[in-house]
Amino acid sequence: MEKNRSYAKEKRNINDRCNICGGLTNLTWDHVPPKFCFNSQSTRYNSLLEIHEKQQYTHIAQNGIKYRSICAKCNNELLGSNYDKEFKKLVDLLYHIYTTPGKIGQYIEVQGLEVNKVARAIVGHFLAARNEYIESKVENELRDYFLNPSLMPPKDFKLLYYVYIYNTIMIIRDVAPKKFGKKEYSIPEGLISCINTFPLAFILAHKCKDNAELYDLFDFCSENINDKKDIKINLLSYKYPNKERLRHPYWPCNISDDETGTSIILVSNKANGSVFSQIRDLKKK
Ligand SMILES: [Zn+2]
Repeated sequence: MEKNRSYAKEKRNINDRCNICGGLTNLTWDHVPPKFCFNSQSTRYNSLLEIHEKQQYTHIAQNGIKYRSICAKCNNELLGSNYDKEFKKLVDLLYHIYTTPGKIGQYIEVQGLEVNKVARAIVGHFLAARNEYIESKVENELRDYFLNPSLMPPKDFKLLYYVYIYNTIMIIRDVAPKKFGKKEYSIPEGLISCINTFPLAFILAHKCKDNAELYDLFDFCSENINDKKDIKINLLSYKYPNKERLRHPYWPCNISDDETGTSIILVSNKANGSVFSQIRDLKKK
């Protein structure tokens, strides 16, 4: 992958197919993750194959990481004005918990969350996080799910989530991590995509058997978009299960001989929109 394949340099036509509905139209920008996940400031970032031990960010994104990849209708009528609003409630709640002094217990139950909207918000941002329209069975199943409010999440998919405490953003689409050796630090293997950002990280996994002891947001979903559900959050999931050790900020994509890392990552040429970045501060605006 050459350097200029990063999202900002990508010469995508303004008029192109929407990554979500496939309509040929003028494309609009989508912040991934959304602005309310502290992704609104100018930031430095690297693309997937520019990761080094000594992190030096080589590109600058003005006003946060964003992709010009979806049409105004998908962006404004569904994602931004509708599904993201419910996702923001979850982000605000966790922000409050982690910035309020006091001891944090291990689990909370978030009550009355319109979880089908939250799940579609996350899936929508995953779909947006590409520099090109891709026709594939996996992508189409995600599109159908996003666009049809009465569908259950596509089977064979998981939407794993855990608390993320770093001021780093990692966006990865379609890689396959493989782990050899010690299984006590398991990783979700399969075709995975990741959005890591404070306060929650999400792993969208296709045909993955091991949840790595994480909750799956799709397990709480139902066929009625307006259903209110109680979802569980492990507030200590920023650590490896039953360990005191903090997860690596690029987990599960940190390649290392260390037992917490992944042994290899298979990267497809569809991963060109992937981005690593650092947020300047996590203060609420
Ligand atoms: Zn669209």
